[in-house]
Amino acid sequence: MDFHCHLDLYPNAREVYKEACRRNSFTWLVTTSPKAFAASSRALVPSSNVLITPGLHPEIVHERAQELDLLLEQITTVPAIGEVGLDGSSRFQATYDVQRRIFSAVVARCECLGGRVLSIHSRQAVKDVLAELNLHPQFGTAVLHWFTGTSSELKAAEAQGCWFSVGPAMFNSNSGRALAAKLPRERVVPESDGPFAKLEGQPVMPWSMDVTAALLADAWGVTSDSAMNILEQNSIRLLKLIQAPQLVKHGPGAP
Ligand code: MN
Repeated sequence: MDFHCHLDLYPNAREVYKEACRRNSFTWLVTTSPKAFAASSRALVPSSNVLITPGLHPEIVHERAQELDLLLEQITTVPAIGEVGLDGSSRFQATYDVQRRIFSAVVARCECLGGRVLSIHSRQAVKDVLAELNLHPQFGTAVLHWFTGTSSELKAAEAQGCWFSVGPAMFNSNSGRALAAKLPRERVVPESDGPFAKLEGQPVMPWSMDVTAALLADAWGVTSDSAMNILEQNSIRLLKLIQAPQLVKHGPGAP
């Protein structure tokens, strides 16, 4: 399983998509813009075990802000949203106000529609992300992807009910490994974040859940089997929150 993957952006996207359909019981394809969501939904043969969701990545709001209305419209038709969020790093400081306006509109819309599951980018912006979610208590469920905040931000996110999607690349740094050890084990699901996330110079593939499980096992001091089991149980619970029962019934390895 993979709860955060930019499947449409691999150089050989159609092949990777086909292979993910074959090898994964579930893959969440997060898009980076409303137009990319529309294009991917058209270009890829629908599969019952791939969820394609509309998003607006905070790193590209400067060129895509005018697509917000389209995004708000798309949100009505899907059970989950992503990738959305805020990026507070200096590179994107110039667009931070626009990022906030867009993220706020998305979260408000999700609340208005009775709740959605969101895959959220929160680099150097955890506090603002959590504050925004707090303003809309019925927004649904937040999955913070590749969490890079501080320990106290992690505690705050946990207290607010956030989930965490974690991939192999999180373990490339000492700080990532330290955070992984502190994650609430009952709210962690696997992700690849490929093709952006890399492992030994290669894009992480959507079927890397066993790699993530082995790394988490090390961080948690449990066996790989036990970490795999935890990830599977969590994944099933999160899929139920996405309210897509047709995605739950496939066993591992189902086509
Ligand atoms: Mn991503």
